[in-house]
Amino acid sequence: MAEGLSIEITTPQKQWRFEHAASCTAPGVLGNFQVLQNHAPLMSELTVGELKVVVDGDEKYFAVSGGFLEVKNNVVSLVLEACEAADEIDVERAQRAMERAKQRLKERRPDLDVVRAEAALTRALNRLRVARKKTATT
Ligand code: ATP
Repeated sequence: MAEGLSIEITTPQKQWRFEHAASCTAPGVLGNFQVLQNHAPLMSELTVGELKVVVDGDEKYFAVSGGFLEVKNNVVSLVLEACEAADEIDVERAQRAMERAKQRLKERRPDLDVVRAEAALTRALNRLRVARKKTATT
């Protein structure tokens, strides 16, 4: 049997695949959790947060915007609404999204969709936080 984990990340836009990974740490709805080799079968819903994959001694960080994770036979499959590797996050875009959401929440117009604005703010703050980790991936 091959050593380590096979990790498959799928989004509507792109895919990543890592072989022989040492671990995967994901933002579960009940908190962050780590998957190592020989983890028991698992299905978990993911929330907005940081995904970390350790492979070849390298820590790779991703901003995740929710989805699902399954672990089975050392294969970790993630199906995500959106996901960006730390070094491909457009920081200015995330800053604009953050400002937009903050402004909406501050103005509180009667037709404001508060849940949507808060979710946009959470995604933007997460991207900004994960983007600061990009030096660790290069
Ligand atoms: P925005 O308002 O800037 O579009 P958003 O949070 O509404 O942000 P999403 O709907 O979560 O964006 O994502 C739409 C697509 O754009 C996804 O493919 C996502 O990976 C990508 N994306 C969003 N923000 C960024 C960013 N700051 N840098 C790189 N890709 C991004």
